Amino acid sequence: MSMRTARDLNTDGSGRPYADVSYWLEDMSPLAPRSELVGEVDADVAILGAGYTGLWTAYYLLQREPSLRVVVLEAEVAGYGASGRNGGWCNSSMMGVSVGEMRSRFGPQRTLEMFRELRHTVEEVGRVCETEGIDVAWRKAGVLRVAVGAHEVPTLESRWATLQELGLDEGCERLDTAQLRDRVRLAGGQGAVFDPHVAFHHPARLVRGLAERVESAGGTIFEHSPVTKYTLGASPTFTTERGTVRATTLVFAGEAFMTSLPRFRRSMIPVYSLIALTEPLSEAQWDEIGWAQGECLSSHSLTVDYVSRTHDGRVLFGGRGAPYHFGSSVAADYDRDADTHAALRRRLRQWFPVLRDTKITHEWGGPLGVTRDWMPTLVHDPKQGFATCHGYAGQGVAPSNLAGRTLADLITERTDSPLLQLPHAQRRARKWEPEPLRWLGIRTVQRGLARIDKKSEATGVPPSGKSLSERLSRH
Ligand SMILES: Cc1cc2nc3c(=O)[nH]c(=O)nc-3n(C[C@H](O)[C@H](O)[C@H](O)COP(=O)(O)OP(=O)(O)OC[C@H]3O[C@@H](n4cnc5c(N)ncnc54)[C@H](O)[C@@H]3O)c2cc1C
Repeated sequence: MSMRTARDLNTDGSGRPYADVSYWLEDMSPLAPRSELVGEVDADVAILGAGYTGLWTAYYLLQREPSLRVVVLEAEVAGYGASGRNGGWCNSSMMGVSVGEMRSRFGPQRTLEMFRELRHTVEEVGRVCETEGIDVAWRKAGVLRVAVGAHEVPTLESRWATLQELGLDEGCERLDTAQLRDRVRLAGGQGAVFDPHVAFHHPARLVRGLAERVESAGGTIFEHSPVTKYTLGASPTFTTERGTVRATTLVFAGEAFMTSLPRFRRSMIPVYSLIALTEPLSEAQWDEIGWAQGECLSSHSLTVDYVSRTHDGRVLFGGRGAPYHFGSSVAADYDRDADTHAALRRRLRQWFPVLRDTKITHEWGGPLGVTRDWMPTLVHDPKQGFATCHGYAGQGVAPSNLAGRTLADLITERTDSPLLQLPHAQRRARKWEPEPLRWLGIRTVQRGLARIDKKSEATGVPPSGKSLSERLSRH
């Protein structure tokens, strides 16, 4: 990436204004980028990436040891990645893995402990925002996981049964169709599970506020400073176009964008998640929809969707389904995909027919990292001076806080930390297949899942769970 002139300070490496990256960044514009790294700097911990992972790690390192020299290097501006683009759910689910899958991987006891910690993590994010005075429009109204259509009821029932079996149903409720209608009037809604352990927040206010708190605690953030090279081992060093940072530990917190670095090329795939946002709704429209408490909403379709009522009275409809790009490539051009955005607009209007003439004011998207087993890789290797957490599978808002605390405990050698006993700590997912196998496999699964969703919707028959696409993508 070449050096920027003062004129284009407010644009990314592709020339796109930061305000066009997402509604959330637009809402906080102009962003006034921090200085670029120039020259040589020594630090105790150097962090690649000023998203939630990098900043939570910096924040907790400085909480635990205020004298540490912590430097963050960000290619663009704080919050440029998924942390400044997401759907606003601070969610206590286990990254990309279902409760049932967690149980079969780690057993019931460790699954219970993991989920309890994730629920605590949601509280922790809210607590830090409050004590640090970061106004993120926090609304802990929970989530309604809705069966949209009769064909989704069996999956809803089986998830509810697993929650009960594991003793994770505390505070949760199984709502029938009428009870769901009392909360939100959504066409085709056939009941839901309500889970109180989820909060809505303004993503960019969180990430930008966190960056400021890291600086007031003594950390240094350089922006417009992409790491182009690094060395590990005897003298861990990050190199940018105009500078270097030498540190005892390098933390790699660049999520999906890191697939451009050889070491991470096969450790995750970038999956694009896209969002359509309406204009603010009128009182009459809200009266028709209900949704007074503003719970987050999702269906049980195989192609993930997530829906939020924003702090300023809009409906945010997000979903996956945009195609995987060969070689795990990431580019600003992929942030918008005409077919996927059209499908999101369609689905939004199917769910809420009253919005048929409502304007969609913003559309955006971004890459999220998915590992081969759908759980993040979280590693600290003190001999190499290497640490990372990446691959949250699109559910990283709360887990990145947990990762930040865990990495801070590992780096400051708090070996008695209870977090290190949980299944997420010191684990590495296996690599994705090489290309072209990876591209062929992922595209086949993506197309297969979309086809199954369409068929189930049309016929009312639930997915069998036995198709190749479902088996290959089970997590
Ligand atoms: C559209 C969308 C919707 C989502 N919705 C939700 C949701 O509602 N709830 C939820 O829990 N999760 C959601 N996610 C996922 C969640 O946002 C992420 O898991 C989380 O933000 C990851 O944070 P991060 O800091 O690890 O990565 P990012 O926020 O992606 O940050 C990585 C940073 O590293 C920088 N970087 C990369 N490479 C370099 C380099 N070489 N040198 C310097 N800097 C570099 C990038 O510029 C970027 O700022 C969503 C993701 C997307 C894309």
